[in-house]
Amino acid sequence: MFDAVEGAGLAELHLRYDRASGLRAMIAIHNTHLGPALGGCRCIYYHSENDALNDVARLARSMSYKAALAGLPQGGGKAVIMLPAPRSQATVDRTALYRGFGDFVDSLGGHYITAIDSGTELEDLTVVAERTRYVVGTARDGFDPSPATAQGLLVAIRTAVQRQFKSASLAEIRVAIQGVGHVGKTLARLLHHEGTYLLISDNNNLRAQAVAQETGGEVIAPEAIYGVNCDLFAPCGLGGILNAATIARLRCKVVAGCANNQLQSDEDAERLAARGILYAPDYVINAGGLILVSMAYHGRSEEVPARVNAIALTLEEIFERAARQGVTTVAVADQMAVERLSGEVMINAHCG
Ligand code: NAD
Repeated sequence: MFDAVEGAGLAELHLRYDRASGLRAMIAIHNTHLGPALGGCRCIYYHSENDALNDVARLARSMSYKAALAGLPQGGGKAVIMLPAPRSQATVDRTALYRGFGDFVDSLGGHYITAIDSGTELEDLTVVAERTRYVVGTARDGFDPSPATAQGLLVAIRTAVQRQFKSASLAEIRVAIQGVGHVGKTLARLLHHEGTYLLISDNNNLRAQAVAQETGGEVIAPEAIYGVNCDLFAPCGLGGILNAATIARLRCKVVAGCANNQLQSDEDAERLAARGILYAPDYVINAGGLILVSMAYHGRSEEVPARVNAIALTLEEIFERAARQGVTTVAVADQMAVERLSGEVMINAHCG
């Protein structure tokens, strides 16, 4: 356990077991240099406590990096609630579970602020809010971070396209979207509005067909999406999809999507660069939802549009530094995040 904590560079790890509700939960706090840790609560089944620990530690660190590069007054943290069995979401007593979790969050006195993530619903957060004020996004807020995430992706795609093709127009490009769920579907609509030709895949074929029909796009089979001829590939499904095999098949010049942790390993950033593919680091360009949640927590929601648009400035700086230093965009993004977290660099809030 201590190796995982050390490996991820966590500042704090908290564990809670509650016999009455059956709650088994972990909260990892990576860094609070820029503000209290903010991050969602994942409620899923893990094969082992080690899997849960590795997940929460890795996710907490990426939340720190994401918040730092988005110029937010937040650190990174994450929580996991371990379900007792696969597919037990509907059978557990969710009210008891999330009351217990709310008490757990409250016991940290505001060091960690919780929010939505896989397996947690807005209604669950409403229960959490009965027990603690350190929560953002409840059924009462009617929160959906996806539109802000999609808007951030759009400005990032425009920046990457300008960089790679020397044109800000999205009307002449072909974009392949993998996954048209909450974010992917909204992105497809935004790009369609710009006149972009879309190639769409989703494991849920009906979903892919509906979005393709609405946007005049083309449905591509999920396994064929990597090899499709396009200018930009937007992974908006799950993480871990870019590896030696899939990168070798890509026929695009840019990869820019919202899925978290798209690269299976650090070497994959090198592989993309070696093929001349410009990679927009996922945690930089999918920060729109986090910006929305953070600003809502601080009562500064009016700043969201300007902060989301500022993703373009950060990305441009990353591209510029990577080109100048001859390193990958991921190496530059990580370096910039570490600089900001260690206080070596003043945060530019990019607020218009
Ligand atoms: P979602 O569950 O609503 O949609 C994901 C879609 O991708 C689903 O339709 C699913 O069928 C499809 N999919 C998954 N793997 C696929 C594959 N290999 N091929 C084709 N289709 C596939 O999720 P979402 O909220 O749209 O988020 C998408 C991704 O972006 C996730 O990785 C999420 O962690 C990340 N993300 C989301 C937000 C947000 O605001 N929702 C913010 C930051 C990051």
